[in-house]
Amino acid sequence: MKRIITILLTFLFLTACESTLTKNKKENNRKPNSFAIVIHGGAGGIKKEYFTKEQQDAYTQKLQEALNAGYKALENGGISLDAVEAAINVLENSPLFNAGKGAVYNSEGKQEMDASIMDGKTLNSGAVAGVNHIKNPILAARVVMDSTEHVMLSGRGAEILAKKYGIEMVDSTYFYTQKRLDQLHKIQNKESRTSLLINKELIDDHKYGTVGAVAIDKNGNIAAGTSTGGMTNKKYGRIGDSPIIGAGTYANNKTCGISATGTGEYFIRTVAAHEVSNLIQYKNMNPKNALHEVLFNQIGKLGGEGGMILLDKNGNVYWDFNSTGMFRGYKKSDGEQKIEMFKETE
Ligand code: ASP
Repeated sequence: MKRIITILLTFLFLTACESTLTKNKKENNRKPNSFAIVIHGGAGGIKKEYFTKEQQDAYTQKLQEALNAGYKALENGGISLDAVEAAINVLENSPLFNAGKGAVYNSEGKQEMDASIMDGKTLNSGAVAGVNHIKNPILAARVVMDSTEHVMLSGRGAEILAKKYGIEMVDSTYFYTQKRLDQLHKIQNKESRTSLLINKELIDDHKYGTVGAVAIDKNGNIAAGTSTGGMTNKKYGRIGDSPIIGAGTYANNKTCGISATGTGEYFIRTVAAHEVSNLIQYKNMNPKNALHEVLFNQIGKLGGEGGMILLDKNGNVYWDFNSTGMFRGYKKSDGEQKIEMFKETE
């Protein structure tokens, strides 16, 4: 009897060791020197029928350009922070997206932009909020991270710092686009006809278009960044989730990097990006389920809408959204790449 018990215990012990080994193997399966980048150009009312073939091509082309810029930085041995910056720069310089040149207008007819960046290795982070003279707010976020002891600077202070560090400054008229102005007027006209400030119709009209990127470099370090003009017709001084570390942006080498887009208030209230990372780290959830849990069971239940991109510590790409679509794409060192706009079923 004693022998049987000993054999049984030995068997149980060996099985436990085996399962721990398999788990660890699963947890560290990144190929040495591999790298990857994933980007988004915002989520929202993105349905095939709303876009002409030319428009679809223009978005695809710009997303490809951004992916290539980030990929090139990684390929040349650059760190993930540089890749995130490079990809976001391309999108900020395009009027197609709600960041930099294509930023939306607030209720006073001005642009107030937010951006943030985070290093998953050190958890260092930088952010700027409510700026309107910095051509590429993501560069200023990086300066806040690298050159100050702070995480976030707003408005005038952020602009003084950016200028001091040689970041390109522009007159606020640089950010003018007729398309965004028309969107503001459309929403404001609707608002004057309705007593409800945020009703479903208005939410549908908001073009999210925020941009974001997450990269993992050859050393396995993850970085994430997000840049936005916020939401059309937002109140003066309103700050969304994009510059808030843990809400719109998060990176941690232990789990993943994330950039979000959508109705920012809900992403702030659920601390969305950090929540996803926590579910992976502490609940052992896989990234797919963690994204779904936060986007659908938390944000969606509160009435929020949007999406997130995620790159895990093994270089696997995930994304999800509870809106009709999301501009998105990735490029990996194993040659795999993809660009999508609509729901996969469309
Ligand atoms: N999340 C952004 C904000 O609320 C908007 C967006 O994603 O387009 O400021």
